[in-house]
Amino acid sequence: MDIEVIGVGGYDEVGRNMTAVRCGKEIVVFDMGLRLDQVMIHEDAEIENMHSLDLIQMKAIPDDTMMNTVEGSVKAIVCTHGHLDHIGAIPKLAHRYNAPIISTPYTTELIRQQIAGEQKFGVNNKLFALKAGQKYTISQHLTLEFVRTQHSIIDTVTAVLHTPHGAVVYACDFKLDRTPVIGEPPDFARLRQIGKEGVLALIVEAVNIHSKGRCPSERIARDLVRDTLTSYEDDKGAIIVSTFSSHISRIKTITECAHEIGRKPVLLGRSMEKYSSAAEQMKLVSFPQTTSMFGNRRTVDRTLRRVMKSGPENFVLVVTGAQGEPGATLSRIGAGETPYKIQKGDKILFSAKVIPNPLNYGQRYLLETRLKMAGARIHDELHVSGHAYLEDHYEFVNLLNPQHVIPAHGGLGMTGAYADFVGGLGYTLQNDLHLFKNGQRVKLN
Ligand SMILES: [Zn+2]
Repeated sequence: MDIEVIGVGGYDEVGRNMTAVRCGKEIVVFDMGLRLDQVMIHEDAEIENMHSLDLIQMKAIPDDTMMNTVEGSVKAIVCTHGHLDHIGAIPKLAHRYNAPIISTPYTTELIRQQIAGEQKFGVNNKLFALKAGQKYTISQHLTLEFVRTQHSIIDTVTAVLHTPHGAVVYACDFKLDRTPVIGEPPDFARLRQIGKEGVLALIVEAVNIHSKGRCPSERIARDLVRDTLTSYEDDKGAIIVSTFSSHISRIKTITECAHEIGRKPVLLGRSMEKYSSAAEQMKLVSFPQTTSMFGNRRTVDRTLRRVMKSGPENFVLVVTGAQGEPGATLSRIGAGETPYKIQKGDKILFSAKVIPNPLNYGQRYLLETRLKMAGARIHDELHVSGHAYLEDHYEFVNLLNPQHVIPAHGGLGMTGAYADFVGGLGYTLQNDLHLFKNGQRVKLN
């Protein structure tokens, strides 16, 4: 049985991930992601109504038309976590394949919601929720295993495809967090065992390869948030915290700190409500009892009016808009479009970093300038990354000891730097180390 890896998307950019692994005549697809900034450039783009081919042309979703040149049939679509750059293209592409979509329970719920919001295509693929630590028999020759890991969204796994020639490990995305705020550390014992059994190939994210040392634990972010939120002399005025709406661990920390200082946590914004209520309903997180959440614009504005009236010093607002996205709650507050008017001395905490692209930098600059002009005090970068740093990658490669390495999830600036790093461990290009551009492929045996 020959085994081939096909880099469909996410090899020229961060975003729109999709990698296929062909084993003989059977194909397993990992991720179908969306690159959101490519969509935001087009102001009037409503993804729900758009055709796949137009989105492919915009470079917003992977160009899977090349899959026609891969001989075999897709037996499974596998997603390792619920970030949009891994699941966002499912409503546009999955219906072309007669295969189940296998992902962790929380990811499956997010995929279900994605599909429900789709206007253009009917997506009827079976959804299968596989927990970390469990296996799924794809066919006589192929078994999928999910190994527990950590990332900036809950219920993330490293996917391991067991083939007759060894395991193909798909590690996009992960961090080796030994003291996470929710869940348990990565399953190092199982990873080590898989390494001993034999890993044919490691397909691995390269997002933070330029960062030396180890990625700080989420516990460090909790300390940063707590230090800022719970210790100050002036306890009047509003505290507004913005973070990634899918970062449930962080939101848990913020709500707990709010509770600690006797303020009610209020989650505001459509996606803030979506991710947190799903996690709460699935009992993957519990927030303090005083926590409330509001998604649609009318109820958000009604709540902000109530906050204004009863005194902002009684609340901590947890809002969308850390990237300054137009229409997000913090952006609307900054633009004076909500009943909440920023007062002199209000504290605005960013528990997120700006995702580095010029559009975000511009929008965030606009937002911060508006907030500061209204008298707000800005606290920035109360945040740690969800992606492995260089020394984490070193440990990871040592644990798995793969025959072949394929860096993914990033342009050549990132995947090339990963190649440099792993070159130092003895891997050589075109032999057992493979650098892709989108659409390139390699046979491993
Ligand atoms: Zn991710």
